[in-house]
Amino acid sequence: MQAFEYANPMTVKDAVALLGASWTDANVLAGGTDQLSLMKDYIHTPKRLVNIKNIKELAGIRKAGGNLRIGATVTLDELIDNREVRMAFPSLVSAARGVGSPQIKNMGTVGGDLCQRPRCWYFRNGFGLLAQKNGRSLVDDGQNEFHAIFSQGPAKFVSASSLAPALAALGATVTIAGPNGTRSVDVASFFVAPSSDQQREVDLKPNEIVTQVLVPMSGAKNASYEVRLKDGLDWPYAAAAVALRMKGSTVESARVVLGHVGPTPVVAEGAASALAGKSITEEVAAQAGESAVQGAHPLSGNAYKVQLAKTAVKRALMEAVKRA
Ligand SMILES: Cc1cc2nc3c(=O)[nH]c(=O)nc-3n(C[C@H](O)[C@H](O)[C@H](O)COP(=O)(O)OP(=O)(O)OC[C@H]3O[C@@H](n4cnc5c(N)ncnc54)[C@H](O)[C@@H]3O)c2cc1C
Repeated sequence: MQAFEYANPMTVKDAVALLGASWTDANVLAGGTDQLSLMKDYIHTPKRLVNIKNIKELAGIRKAGGNLRIGATVTLDELIDNREVRMAFPSLVSAARGVGSPQIKNMGTVGGDLCQRPRCWYFRNGFGLLAQKNGRSLVDDGQNEFHAIFSQGPAKFVSASSLAPALAALGATVTIAGPNGTRSVDVASFFVAPSSDQQREVDLKPNEIVTQVLVPMSGAKNASYEVRLKDGLDWPYAAAAVALRMKGSTVESARVVLGHVGPTPVVAEGAASALAGKSITEEVAAQAGESAVQGAHPLSGNAYKVQLAKTAVKRALMEAVKRA
């Protein structure tokens, strides 16, 4: 690993000031479960690491107006164990439960889960986010079984965050602090498909920090479902998260978001429209699954993900309406 300077600020203002104009000047360090692997593999080689775990204002979960405010350094375990989260957002709890091992849930943070880098093995082996060699995609004719079925332009990796689809379905926003103050971005728009290797896959500048996530306490029924290889310590093949505003047993409005199938969480508007005004039965849920994968374009080795995504939508919907 390349030698680096370690900074330990106590405030967001100081942390932002310690970051730099480029990703090689400095990187944020939260739980370190991804950042340190990236540094060991020379994918990130920052001159400075800025530890944010001792900044009190980034910690904790509490109600704030009509939202639940989740601090960026809340660990996945804290999220899973929190009473308010368990009562209002079972989709978030089940997404967090699926992550890795007990050790990862103990160290990994909400901000880190959202900002973790893609797992694409070409990216992790130094070929950049677009996984190209001599201007040609290595993914198209390569090992692409875990890649996107919803590619966006040249971006064929999948967004790695399991929390993102659940948060996007719930209409959550992230707050980002930078040198000029704070800004707020919908979770669904925080993820972007880069068109060059110089771009990041999240809407974050090198001198910005995610400080919190605000999740509206709207009373929407919600659930998420992911399909993974047995109980392996690996990312899901496909996942879906749903949030339903109900009037009695009828869906007033729905949000359906697919995960691990595109470079960003995929908001399935067709599936949401297919649900409006209906009661959820197995048949309606299966139709929503069909609608959700309209527009999917699998690569040579990952057509199986289309069926998994359909099933994930159906099962998430059935789970959401099962809850009182
Ligand atoms: C074996 C294994 C299995 C896993 N399975 C899953 C899975 O199924 N689903 C899933 O979603 N994840 C999975 N993960 C990933 C895990 O959730 C992340 O590694 C973890 O959440 C990252 O959090 P962290 O606090 O350790 O982040 P760090 O490693 O400290 O940081 C990760 C990245 O985010 C940046 N960053 C961190 N916090 C902030 C912030 N507040 N503002 C701006 N930038 C920030 C860092 O600079 C770095 O680039 C798995 C990881 C492992 C090792």
